[in-house]
This record gives sequence, structure tokens and C-alpha cells, in this order.
Amino acid sequence: MKKDCLFCKISHGKTSTEILYENDTLVVFRDINPAAPIHLLIVPKNHIRSVNDLSEADQPILAEMVMVAKEMAAQQGVDKSGYRLFINVERGGGQVVFHLHMHLIGGWH
Ligand code: AMP
Ligand code: ZN
Repeated sequence: MKKDCLFCKISHGKTSTEILYENDTLVVFRDINPAAPIHLLIVPKNHIRSVNDLSEADQPILAEMVMVAKEMAAQQGVDKSGYRLFINVERGGGQVVFHLHMHLIGGWH
């Protein structure tokens, strides 16, 4: 855990953020500034800055992020209508929180 990292704090239960799902690897919570009716963040507990910092050993984390995103989409009722999963990478890619996370957005209809 990186002490000055917001998503480290949230994923380790150090804030009042409501956690929608948690397992040993990751947590899921709502984006504070939603870009769609449903906007979740899938966040590994390990501090990894961005996709650029992933190693071979992190592959199970990535697989888990996608599988949990799929489950959350179904739980939120957007699986059938469809949704987007995306990861912003570094400043030019729109990343503003430098702790790896995947966005799940959907629920437009
Ligand atoms: P990114 O641009 O990919 O780094 O996305 C960071 C996201 O984190 C943005 O969509 C923010 O709205 C969201 N965010 C920032 N602070 C919080 C917070 N305290 N709780 C939930 N989401 C947050
Ligand atoms: Zn962190």
C-alpha cells in the first residue's frame, strides 16, 4: 500500500467509500463523477501505477478484473444492453489517478 495513494486507501478500507464488491485481489466501487448511469471502477488492491507497470506475474489480476467486471455488469443489469470497459494509461491517455483501475460504464437505456 502506497500511503499517499487514494485508490490504495479506498481498496484497503481506509475511507468511507462504499465497496460494492471485494475479494482478495480487488475491490469495486462507484465512480464519484459518473460518466454514465452506471459507472464503476474495478481496482486491484496491489499498488500498480498503470498498465505500463504490469509484469507477467500480474496476469491473473488482469484476468480477474475482467471476470469481476462481467459479474458486476450482470449484477447492475447492464450486461444485456451492453457496456464499455476501459483503462486510461498515463496522462496522455486520460489517467488522473495513478493506481491501475478499469472503468465499467453503461446503463444508457
Ligand atoms: P482515470 O481518469 O482513469 O484515472 O479515472 C479516475 C477516476 O476516479 C475518475 O473517473 C474520477 O471521477 C474517479 N475518482 C476520483 N476520486 C474518487 C473517489 N474518491 N471515489 C470514487 N471515484 C473517484
Ligand atoms: Zn495505490
